[in-house]
Amino acid sequence: MPERSESDSRHLLRRLRDVLAQPGDGQDRLDRITSLIAHSMQTEVCSIYLFCDPETLELCATEGLRAEAVHQTRMRLGEGLVGRVARLNTPINTHDAPSEKGFRYMAETGEEIYSSFLGVPIQRVGEKLGVLVVQSKDARDFKDDEVYGLEVVAMVLAEMTELGAFVGDREGIGHSHRFPVMFRGTCGQEGACEGKVWLHEPRVVVTNPVGDDPEDEQRRLQEAVSTLQTQVNDMISGAVGMDMDHRQVLETYRMLANSRGWMRRMTEDIALGLSAEAAVEKEQSTTRARLEKVADPYLKGRLSDLDDLSNRLLRLLTGQGTNTGAELPDNPVLLARNIGPAELLDYGRKLKGVVLEEGSVGSHAAIVARALAIPLVIHAKRITSEALNGDRVLVDGDQGVVHLRPEDNVTNAFRDKIAMQAEAQKRYADLRDLPAEDVNGVTVNLTMNAGLIADLPSLENSGAAGVGLFRTELQFLTRAHVPRRDELARLYARVMDAAKDKPVKFRTLDIGSDKVLPYMKPQDEPNPAMGWRAIRVGLDKPGVLNMQLQALIRAAKTRPLEVMFPFIACPSEFYAGRDALLRQRDREAALGRPVPEDLKIGAMLETPSLGFAPDSFYQACDFISIGGNDLKQFFFAADRENERVRKRYDTLDTSFLTFLERIIVRCQASDTQLSFCGEDAGRPVEALTFAALGLRSLSMRPASIGPIKHLIRRADLAELRQIVQRARNEGQQSVRNAVTTYLAHL
Ligand code: PEP
Ligand code: MG
Repeated sequence: MPERSESDSRHLLRRLRDVLAQPGDGQDRLDRITSLIAHSMQTEVCSIYLFCDPETLELCATEGLRAEAVHQTRMRLGEGLVGRVARLNTPINTHDAPSEKGFRYMAETGEEIYSSFLGVPIQRVGEKLGVLVVQSKDARDFKDDEVYGLEVVAMVLAEMTELGAFVGDREGIGHSHRFPVMFRGTCGQEGACEGKVWLHEPRVVVTNPVGDDPEDEQRRLQEAVSTLQTQVNDMISGAVGMDMDHRQVLETYRMLANSRGWMRRMTEDIALGLSAEAAVEKEQSTTRARLEKVADPYLKGRLSDLDDLSNRLLRLLTGQGTNTGAELPDNPVLLARNIGPAELLDYGRKLKGVVLEEGSVGSHAAIVARALAIPLVIHAKRITSEALNGDRVLVDGDQGVVHLRPEDNVTNAFRDKIAMQAEAQKRYADLRDLPAEDVNGVTVNLTMNAGLIADLPSLENSGAAGVGLFRTELQFLTRAHVPRRDELARLYARVMDAAKDKPVKFRTLDIGSDKVLPYMKPQDEPNPAMGWRAIRVGLDKPGVLNMQLQALIRAAKTRPLEVMFPFIACPSEFYAGRDALLRQRDREAALGRPVPEDLKIGAMLETPSLGFAPDSFYQACDFISIGGNDLKQFFFAADRENERVRKRYDTLDTSFLTFLERIIVRCQASDTQLSFCGEDAGRPVEALTFAALGLRSLSMRPASIGPIKHLIRRADLAELRQIVQRARNEGQQSVRNAVTTYLAHL
């Protein structure tokens, strides 16, 4: 076998392009391509396997294997050598395929006689499309440059598949962006909507993966890279006054943009026949494949930076890829791999829904989506590769399901569901001014959670009795610097103005853990949820906490003010926070400024330890608010962000309820106001159980207030309490069934 030269590869790529340019149906072209590759690589076999669904590969064309096996032979991801190439996303090269781990004999293809096997993934920017395989009878190891050459060919095939060139209209194979697809993700925020796709960063389509003139392509790449380097340099010089950490991020960008290795690999790809943009994309695919595999957060971060730079470079080369100039469609549903809170806030309420490929339930984007009350589905894998701007989309935030380009029957069923929800909301609107009072006149105080000025109209519309939790993180998360005291004071004053006489419980900054401020040095902590967060940061870095407390006092003037400290794990933390607040109040008073006449200071109970704190702590708190999201994760030792364990334990587990009851009793004994403000407060079965146990104040998202009030008004909380107690006495692990049965008969 002669050495392959650059010109062999270029020659093959050109012929490949010619085949693709000729008329003929997809199958015909696939057949010609396999024969071309087999001939060029001097192998007896060349086969193309494409995904017909995310778990199954189908033999779509072959030179050398039995023709009858085409579109008949299928394998699962990970099955056989072909399946392993796809699963591992890496080439397999062996001179003795039958003795290779995972080899599977497929009689229908007649492949047992082929000893050597080289398979490479067909992928496009991390999107797995299929596997390209060459095989030969002689026991030969393919050389590195042959492996590399086949990867370059696979790259071109990936682009062609992308354009629908192979598969014509065969449903399910390839990615022709025309068929209905359903994505199963995770619920980030409940609600349902119908709309049109708006890609936050529309995909760049490489129309010509093969370069005509390598010199020309090298020049284009050089020019684009120098423009990119200038852009990064400009970002750095424009970052005067920026803190060190942010600057370091940009410096890393600069280092990567100047990376010789990156440039060399792209130059080599062009020499083998790729166009400049295809070379960038090939590198990006490799980066994404690596990103999937590395666990180290630092490396992940750098690979993401490189991915971002590749995107910028692609946009420079193609002039595509920004939404500038395009108009948001009616009822836009934003699709993105991930999005920052500031960008999401920029879109604001124009959006009907948001779907992300990444993200987490507690991510900033999720917090904003929750604040904006728009349905959010996260972990919808590959949706941005599959969707095109303007595609119709249905988002079911309750189930975490997204239907892209749905069939009419799916749309109709979905519309029925939305209509039913709207109908129910109308019924709840009638309850707005009525109390949440059970049949015996026991009243539960229903308040709402908020975090934005934009939330406040909900105070009136939902009939909430006040704001039980005002999360103050968003104003810190969405800026490139710490907000100024005056700025915050103005904002808090607007919140109080909008609330009129209704009380607002402001929670001081809860950052750290997953909520990392852009200007704060990320802490490399093994377990951030149990790390340096919330009040721990506030007490160690009192500057920001004091500034925030001053802003709250200035906003209130003489009005009543309620402040609570997050994540208190022992009384001394509460006392230190309280002392800081009182000091700031006295300082303001000493300066002759108005101060709140009624100041209530509370603690968030988010760690089990506080359930066992001394009585004096309960007596010292004006109020306690149970942060059930965190409390539950620490009670069951189950990370609220980890999909594997998040839903494993039931909030209505009797052990958890016994713990809650203990807090209720202790607060009653010390006459301390108690509320519950985690997400569970807005879930019907949970909320009613809490109320039956004696919790008289629940804070939830505004949309939940109507449904919960509706149930409370029909319920007999004393009777429900007995039902709950009976289930506990019977030794049931959870009271969910008992409560659900009761509610079903209301
Ligand atoms: C909670 O932990 O329940 C809570 C309300 O706080 P957050 O969700 O902001 O952590
Ligand atoms: Mg919390």
